[in-house]
Amino acid sequence: MEIKFIKKENPNYNKKILIIGVFHGDEPQGEYFINSYLEKNKNNGKNALYFIPRLNNNNSRKNKNGVDLNRNFPTKNWVLGENNDYFGGKTPNSEPEVQFLVNLIDKNNFSAIITIHSPYKVVNYDGPGLDLAHKINNYLNYKVTDSIGYPTPGSFGTYCGVERKIPTITIEIDEQEKLEELNLKFHKIFDYLENEY
Ligand SMILES: [Zn+2]
Repeated sequence: MEIKFIKKENPNYNKKILIIGVFHGDEPQGEYFINSYLEKNKNNGKNALYFIPRLNNNNSRKNKNGVDLNRNFPTKNWVLGENNDYFGGKTPNSEPEVQFLVNLIDKNNFSAIITIHSPYKVVNYDGPGLDLAHKINNYLNYKVTDSIGYPTPGSFGTYCGVERKIPTITIEIDEQEKLEELNLKFHKIFDYLENEY
């Protein structure tokens, strides 16, 4: 399994921020926003941005092993669940995509982490992410919330935000909005993260 990983940084960067697209294989928009931003913004800003345009190379929600990556993180609340759309694997941290992220987060002192999902039209935050959630939501005008409305054992947000205290933002985009309009908003969000945050 190959995960494409891109660093956009100058040698004297201030903060380091991780941005992840396509956690779920059937939510492809993040990859497009990231690649489009990288294409148009070649100069580096004050913060380092680390991009994973596409975490899940499968074309459905779960990875090729049939695991929901957003339920497979080794959190205190991980549970062995039923083999449905939210199956978190037979054991926590069993999936190579999850191992890749666990290792990456262990080795880097990220100041914030952003993941791009669809379609719930919310900016969800975990851990100390409320301020950043509002900053990001200035460009989207969704709802800011610390709960998606149902339990998410083994989630990435719990792993990074709740348990490791890294501001972690899960953006659930509005699928109804035109992709190009959303793309412009994401350029502004990435630009904010790179140059202002
Ligand atoms: Zn998702």
